[in-house]
Amino acid sequence: MYDLIILGGGPAGLTAGLYGTRSRLDTLLLEKAVLGGKVITTEKIENYPGFPDGINGPELMEKMEAQAKFFGLQIENASIEDIQKEYDIFKLIADNNTYYTKTIIIATGTSSLGLGIPGEEKFKGRGVSYCATCDALFFKNKPVIVVGGGDAACEEGIYLTKFASHVYIIHRRDKLRATKVLQERALANPKIEFIFDSVLEKIEGNDYVEKVIIKNIKTSNKKEVAVEGIFLYIGTQPNTDFLKNIVNLDEKGYIITDDDMRTETPGIFAAGDVRKKMLRQVSTAVGDGATAAYMAEKYIESKFKE
Ligand code: NAP
Repeated sequence: MYDLIILGGGPAGLTAGLYGTRSRLDTLLLEKAVLGGKVITTEKIENYPGFPDGINGPELMEKMEAQAKFFGLQIENASIEDIQKEYDIFKLIADNNTYYTKTIIIATGTSSLGLGIPGEEKFKGRGVSYCATCDALFFKNKPVIVVGGGDAACEEGIYLTKFASHVYIIHRRDKLRATKVLQERALANPKIEFIFDSVLEKIEGNDYVEKVIIKNIKTSNKKEVAVEGIFLYIGTQPNTDFLKNIVNLDEKGYIITDDDMRTETPGIFAAGDVRKKMLRQVSTAVGDGATAAYMAEKYIESKFKE
């Protein structure tokens, strides 16, 4: 029986682990894939305070992991399939184990959305990618296209200019959603060409991607653009499929909490990108993680006092 089980090993989960163990809660973090969350797919993070020159994503997450482990955080690989409440105790059913705990912090983050257009599935790993940091090297001196107008599209588009011969960024509107500093940098980059008011309709090639068909949604004009790489940054969806019966989700599947990270289910808290909120950043995720662990401690003190 644990005091606290944290689901997800990104910035929110690891920070909750740090705070949980420092509060001397018997804390276990379960991660289904690789520790570090989405941050490990980011080459450089410039808006996490304390690193004026920016910091490499994997390096930041290694530091967070080391710090939490130093205070005794236990970490295991497991994918939770169901959570059941038995009186005041939670039973977590994983693919390979069953765990019992007094409290849970859900910090399972989000996954990339796909476009669902012809060719996307066929060319996954053959030109279609959701991670520039992972795959940019394959596109050295080759033209690529990035889809989206948010922070990720601009940031990763800029990163890709270090490798690709030319980077198109295609966006469905004529105004970018990204943070102003990223917009300015992307718009000023001579290797980036923006295609506004347009969408990808189709991805074509033989064994690998060779071209895309794009459509201007204002004029309905279509044209072919020769590219070998396609990077999709059209947003994310929360990893909450297994939670439908135990916590309240909004219409997009994000977990609804109060300001103190409490879900409507006493004893279950949520932190980081998986939570319904306005700003999804590493800096907001760590704050969520700290608050959630603190609130879990308070919950245990009030519920299980001898
Ligand atoms: P996002 O902010 O949700 O932006 C998604 C973009 O894709 C939007 O521009 C959207 O267009 C476009 N889009 C959505 N569906 C589309 C479709 N079906 N076809 C074509 N375009 C579509 O997602 P994100 O950029 O992946 O970022 C996710 C979260 O992580 C955000 O909270 C972001 O701030 C954060 N993040 C931050 C940083 C950073 O701070 N450096 C870096 C990466 C990510 P519209 O604008 O028209 O809706």
